[in-house]
Amino acid sequence: MTAAKQFDIVIVGGGAAGIATASSLLSRAAHMAIAVIEPADRHYYQPGWTMVGAGIFSAASTAKTTAAVMPAGVTWIKQAVTEFSPDDNEIGLADGSTVGYERLVVCPGLKLNWAGVEGLEDNLGRNGVTSNYSFKTAPYTWDLVQNLKSGKALFTQPPMPIKCAGAPQKALYLSADHWHRSGTLNNIDVGFFTATPSLFGVAHYVPALMKYVEKYGAELHFEHTLTKIDGATKIATFTRADGEEVQSDFDMIHVCPPQCAPDFIRQSPLVDEAGWVDVDPATLQSRRYENVWALGDVMNAPNAKTAAAARAQAPVVATNLLQHAGLNTGMGHYNGYGSCPLTVERGKIVLAEFGYGGKLLPSFPKWLIDGQYPSVLAWLLKARALPWIYWNAMLKGREWLVKPALGAEESS
Ligand SMILES: Cc1cc2nc3c(=O)[nH]c(=O)nc-3n(C[C@H](O)[C@H](O)[C@H](O)COP(=O)(O)OP(=O)(O)OC[C@H]3O[C@@H](n4cnc5c(N)ncnc54)[C@H](O)[C@@H]3O)c2cc1C
Repeated sequence: MTAAKQFDIVIVGGGAAGIATASSLLSRAAHMAIAVIEPADRHYYQPGWTMVGAGIFSAASTAKTTAAVMPAGVTWIKQAVTEFSPDDNEIGLADGSTVGYERLVVCPGLKLNWAGVEGLEDNLGRNGVTSNYSFKTAPYTWDLVQNLKSGKALFTQPPMPIKCAGAPQKALYLSADHWHRSGTLNNIDVGFFTATPSLFGVAHYVPALMKYVEKYGAELHFEHTLTKIDGATKIATFTRADGEEVQSDFDMIHVCPPQCAPDFIRQSPLVDEAGWVDVDPATLQSRRYENVWALGDVMNAPNAKTAAAARAQAPVVATNLLQHAGLNTGMGHYNGYGSCPLTVERGKIVLAEFGYGGKLLPSFPKWLIDGQYPSVLAWLLKARALPWIYWNAMLKGREWLVKPALGAEESS
């Protein structure tokens, strides 16, 4: 292949990670020819969808046009990438054309595998079946919650890894909080069915969460994976870790779909056995191709897949890529930081912030926000500050609290 278009840097995906990386690169090297390849017209602030599902944000407030977030100075190629040829430094696009690069950044997010649960696609958005994992159906969660006065409400979580592993239980807490406040909780059975063996991956936060599980009378079912939904009879089927099938009826069910790397990534030469882009967890450089980096939900570092993680990763990738290009920016190292603001009730959040190995990495002193306790300030952070920080800092290359501490090592 000989690509018609050539760029110094090509970024695959213009989501949270892609736009942040483009801006971080431009803030360091404005002269570089950078292309962002992104097929979608709209860019979403996905962390806002939990709040949409609880009637706190409007869906519209979580979306902007892709044109509005694309940094001035980059070339936007409005196409989907279909193929990687890293030995030729080229990628193939859906329209059959190719694009060549000196250096490549891969960040097309992950695939929500709605088809992985039988009957889910057919019922999503009706028959009491909803999900905050989709812009289209997050408002339906709030409709269902407001209209349910008695009956059974189920909330499900698939096997890890998933993006924002706290989001399935955030939906439970905010729904149950509404029923608690409106005096109907006593008439509603709340169940949480998760494929995982515990409530949250970092034990430090579990006691605070358990207090809310008890307050809302939620029944926990660990190691239960949702496999089927029958919308007509309103029956959900789960497979337990011991292989046994169990069923539960429901009046509403909030589903977090199974997740995996996108198909065109899994078929590429960039990936590990599980299909995620294989990177060094500290430098985020590909372990296979020295002029390729990956960040965001698509890669295999063992951090929590969150926008907060992408916010910390983008400056590291920008720094290391430019170091590799000979611009002496130094080397940045990512410590696995990710954040999960667990909305335990309207007005309070248990703020989980941690890095690799579950190491606690709080951004605030304990007297201001202590992650072991629900916090009003953390709620204000999520409801007011973080959306603003996302649109106006992260996507614009303002690296507040995430400027990489630079080491002197050479890039490989
Ligand atoms: C309900 C919910 C709640 C969440 N809550 C939080 C939270 O509280 N805090 C937090 O930090 N994070 C949260 N997240 C997670 C966060 O939104 C993601 O981790 C983050 O968006 C990942 O960024 P990304 O750029 O890797 O992927 P995305 O932002 O998903 O962007 C991927 C981009 O790649 C594009 N793309 C796809 N295929 C191709 C292709 N073939 N070619 C080119 N481009 C392509 C897509 O169109 C998209 O624009 C939540 C997510 C959800 C769904």
